[in-house]
Amino acid sequence: MTLDAALPALSSLLGDRLCRSKSELDHHGQSESHFPPTPPEAVAYPETTEEVAALVKICADHGVPVIGWGAGTSLEGHALAVQGGVVVDFARMNRVIAVNAEDMDVRVQPGITREALNEHLRATGLFFPVDPGANASIGGMASTRASGTTAVRYGTMRDNVMGLEVVLADGRVTRTGTRARKSSAGYDLTALFVGAEGTLGLITELTLKLQGQPTAVSAAVCAFSDMSDAVATVIETIQTGVPMARIEFVDAATARAVNAYSDADFPEKPHLLVEFHGSEVGVGEDAEIFGAIARDNGAEGFQWARQTEDRNRLWKMRHEAYRAILASRPGARAIVTDVCVPISALAQAVAETQADIDASPVEAPILGHVGDGNFHAILLIDPDDKAEVRAAETLSARMADRALRLGGTVTGEHGIGMGKLGYMRAEHGNGWEVMGSIKAALDPQNIMNPGKLVPPE
Ligand SMILES: Cc1cc2nc3c(=O)[nH]c(=O)nc-3n(C[C@H](O)[C@H](O)[C@H](O)COP(=O)(O)OP(=O)(O)OC[C@H]3O[C@@H](n4cnc5c(N)ncnc54)[C@H](O)[C@@H]3O)c2cc1C
Repeated sequence: MTLDAALPALSSLLGDRLCRSKSELDHHGQSESHFPPTPPEAVAYPETTEEVAALVKICADHGVPVIGWGAGTSLEGHALAVQGGVVVDFARMNRVIAVNAEDMDVRVQPGITREALNEHLRATGLFFPVDPGANASIGGMASTRASGTTAVRYGTMRDNVMGLEVVLADGRVTRTGTRARKSSAGYDLTALFVGAEGTLGLITELTLKLQGQPTAVSAAVCAFSDMSDAVATVIETIQTGVPMARIEFVDAATARAVNAYSDADFPEKPHLLVEFHGSEVGVGEDAEIFGAIARDNGAEGFQWARQTEDRNRLWKMRHEAYRAILASRPGARAIVTDVCVPISALAQAVAETQADIDASPVEAPILGHVGDGNFHAILLIDPDDKAEVRAAETLSARMADRALRLGGTVTGEHGIGMGKLGYMRAEHGNGWEVMGSIKAALDPQNIMNPGKLVPPE
C-alpha cells in the first residue's frame, strides 16, 4: 500500500501538522549512528491521544507503516522508516499531566525530555533518575528500555515505568499498570511495551516512579595505570555492597579525546568516575570505603567534589565522551557497541575486547556503566572504506558473541533497532519466534515500526 490513499484523511485530521517538506523528511531520516539516511514519506505532529488513535486507524485502513519518534537519539537506527510510512513525532505531546508528590509518581506525555521533566520537578524535592546522557524523550526511553549512568542505583526504565497509555495497531487505546507500587493482576503489559521499540503500539502517556533528591552528593574521579585495576576496583566495590549512584569507566583513548575536545587536562589513563547519593554522613562513609578499595588497586590523582559546579567539572569527561570521540576523527561515523555481562565476567570481557581492538585497524575507545557490567566500544569508521567497515563489524560481532558466551546480552541499554537484529536468535533462541507471535497477535498487518525487533516476515 502507498501513503497516497491515506493522505486526504491524514491531512484533514492534522492540517499543517502533517509535514512532507524535504527538510522535515530529511531530519526524520537521520540517526545518531552509522545507518544511511532513510527519510519517511510524511511526518505527523499529533497533540492528543485521540489524534494519535485516529492517525493510526487511518494508517491501518491503508496498510501504511507508523513509526514513533521521540528525540531521535537512539543508536541502532530504531526510528528509521525502513519500509516507508509516517513518522509520528511526539514533540507537541510533551506536558507533565500530574505530579503526585505524596506517592512519588508523575504522569507525563511521551514527548517530554528527561531534562525538561527534571526541571519541572526541581521545586518538589523529587527527580526522575534514569539518565542516558542524551536529552532523550521519556517515550523513546521507555520504548528502548533505556538506562545509563544511574542504573546501578535506581534501575532502568523497566524498573521506573509504572503504567502506560498505548495506541494499538488498530487504533484502540489501552491502559496498562496502576499507580500502586505493586500488583499481581495478570500479564505485565507495561513490561511488554517497555522495550518494544514502537513495534506493538505508540505510547501516549506514562506514569513514572520518582525519587527524593538526595541531601548530599559526592563525586570522585581517579586514574589507574592499567584498565584491569580499574575493573577490579569496580567489581570489589560492588561486592562490598557500597550503594553507588553511578560508577563509570573510560579508557585512556577516551581521556585523550576529551582533553583534545574540551581543553581539559585529565591524565591520559583509564579512569573511574563515581557518585554517591545519601546523607552527609552516609556519602562520606561510602566515599571512604571506595577510596580505600581504589587505592589498594593503584588508583592515583583522586579528585573529590561535593558542590554541583565542581561535580559537573569532574563529570565533564563522561558527559562529553561520545562527542569527543567522534570529533577525534573528523568525518568518521560510529558503530556504538553495547554489551552487558554478569559483573564477575566484566574483567574478562573488557580485557578480551581490548586485545581484539589492539589487533584490529579500527580505533575504538572503550567506556561504560561498568557498575552494571555494561560497556561500549565506540568503533570509528569511514563508511566508504569497506575494509574498515568489515573490520569494525567483525569486532562488534566478536563482542556480542563473547557477551553471550559469558552469560550476558548483546545490548544492555541501546536496544535492537536495525543494528542488533542479527543477534536476536543467538540471544533468545525460539523466544524470538514467541516475540514474533506476540507481534502478529497485536499488529497482524505489521504496520508498527516494521523491519525492527521481531523475525522478518
Ligand atoms: C551521546 C549519546 C549517549 C547515549 N547514552 C545512552 C545511555 O547511556 N543509555 C541508553 O540507554 N541510551 C543511550 N543513548 C541512546 C538514546 O539516548 C536512547 O536509546 C533513548 O532512549 C532514545 O530516546 P529518544 O527519545 O531519542 O527516542 P528515538 O530515538 O526518537 O526513538 C527510539 C525508539 O523508540 C520509538 N519511540 C519513540 N517514541 C515512542 C512512543 N511515544 N511510542 C512508541 N515508540 C516510540 C521509536 O520508534 C524508536 O524505535 C545515547 C545516545 C547518545 C546520542
